[in-house]
Amino acid sequence: MKAEIISTGTELLLGQTLNTSAFYLTEQLSSLGIEVDYHTTVGDNPERLKNVIRQAIERSDLIITTGGTGPTKDDLAKELVAQILNLDLVLDRNSLEAIKAFFAGRNAEMPRSNEKQAYIPQGAKILPNPAGTAPGAIVTNQNKKIVILPGPPSELEPMFTNYLLPELKSLTQKDSHRMQVRVLKLFGLDESAVEEIIGDLMLQSSPAITLLAKRGELHIRLIVRNVDQTNAERILDQTEREIRTRLGDKVFGKDKETLVGIVSQELKKANLSLAVAESCTGGMLGAALTQESGSSEFFLGGVISYSNSLKVGILGINQCTLDSVGAVSQETAREMAEGVRKLTGAKIGMSITGIAGPTGGSHEKPVGLVYIGLAAHEGVEARRFQFFGGRDSVRQLSVNAALQWLRCYLLRSKGEHNNS
Ligand code: AMP
Ligand code: MG
Repeated sequence: MKAEIISTGTELLLGQTLNTSAFYLTEQLSSLGIEVDYHTTVGDNPERLKNVIRQAIERSDLIITTGGTGPTKDDLAKELVAQILNLDLVLDRNSLEAIKAFFAGRNAEMPRSNEKQAYIPQGAKILPNPAGTAPGAIVTNQNKKIVILPGPPSELEPMFTNYLLPELKSLTQKDSHRMQVRVLKLFGLDESAVEEIIGDLMLQSSPAITLLAKRGELHIRLIVRNVDQTNAERILDQTEREIRTRLGDKVFGKDKETLVGIVSQELKKANLSLAVAESCTGGMLGAALTQESGSSEFFLGGVISYSNSLKVGILGINQCTLDSVGAVSQETAREMAEGVRKLTGAKIGMSITGIAGPTGGSHEKPVGLVYIGLAAHEGVEARRFQFFGGRDSVRQLSVNAALQWLRCYLLRSKGEHNNS
C-alpha cells in the first residue's frame, strides 16, 4: 500500500505553524508497516489543493489530508475531495448534533458557519471528533482511500488513534508483505564508530540498515520489505541479536522505548529513590526524569546549584574543593552527588557539572567538559566526559550520559542482586 500525506494550511507555508501532524502521521503509518512515499504541503488555495489531491489519487492508495476542515470559507478539504470524485456533500445529522453538543457543553450557541462542518462527501465513513467540531471522513473510491483529518493536533491525534487506527490495522493485516521496521537505540557511540562495527551488516539488502542521530542518541533503523510477517520478524530478531552482541550495553532500547522510560522502570522495580544535583544542565535532568507520570514513585527532586554559593550552602561542597580544583571537576561532581543524596535521603544521588559553552572554556577545561557523579550505598564515583557541539547539544548529551550511566548501574546491581 502506497501512502501519502497532504498537509493543508497557509500558516504552514508562512512558517507560523510547525507541521507536526505530518510527522505524527508518518510515524504512526510506518509503525503499521505502511510506507509513506510523499509529503506535500499546500496553502488554502483551492486550485493548488485540487491539483495536489488529484495527483495523489493517481499515484497512491492511501491519501491522508490534514487541515482545511474548519468553519471558514478557506477550509475546503471535504468540498474539494467531493468535487474531484464527483460526489455530493450531504448533511450528516449525527455530526451536526455532535457539533451543537460541543458548543452547548461550553454554554454557547453554535454559530451558523459551523454547520458547514457537518457536510460530508456522500458515502464516506465518518470519524467522530470528541475534541473539536470538525468530523473527519474516509472516502473510498475504487481501491483508494482518501482520509480527511482536521488540522489541530489536539483533534487529529485522538481521531487517529480512536477511529482511524483500527481501520488501518484491519487493512494492513490483510497485507502480509507489508514493510516491517525496527529501531534500535543507543547512546555513547557516533555514526562513524557504529558504521565501523556493523558496516558489513549495513551492506546487506535485508534488512536495510540506516543510522540516524537524534537528540544525542543514535538510532539504527532496520527495514524489511516484501517478506511475510513471520519471516520478517525472524530476520529482524537475528539482526537485532547480532547488533546487540557487537555494541553491548551501548544499546539501551528499541522502538518506542526511551532511555528515561527504562531508567524509571528499573528504579521502580528496584524500589530505589533518586535525587539530582545539577549545575550546567539547570534542571534538565530533573525535567527528563519527570516527563512521565508516576515519576514520584522514585524521583525525590533536585537542587539546581548553578552558583558556587549554592553548591557550598545547600549541597555542602567543601569550599577548599572549589578553590583548589574548581566547580567543574571530578571532586566537585563527587561531592555534589554525595551532597544531594545526604540532603534528600535518596538511595541514589546523581550530579552534573560542566562547561556548556559557547564561552567560558579554557585550555585545561574546554567547552563540553562535563563531570557526572553517582552516589549510592557502595560509594561515590565521578566520570569525565568531553562532548562536542553547541550549548544545547552539550546539555542534552550530559543528561543522556547521566541516564545511560544510571541505566547500566541499575542493570548491573540487578544482576549482582540476582546472583547473590
Ligand atoms: P484547520 O482549521 O482544520 O485547517 O486547522 C487549523 C489549526 O490547526 C491551526 O491552529 C493550525 O495551526 C493547526 N494545524 C493545521 N495543520 C497543522 C499541521 N500539519 N501540524 C500542526 N498543526 C496544524
Ligand atoms: Mg486551515
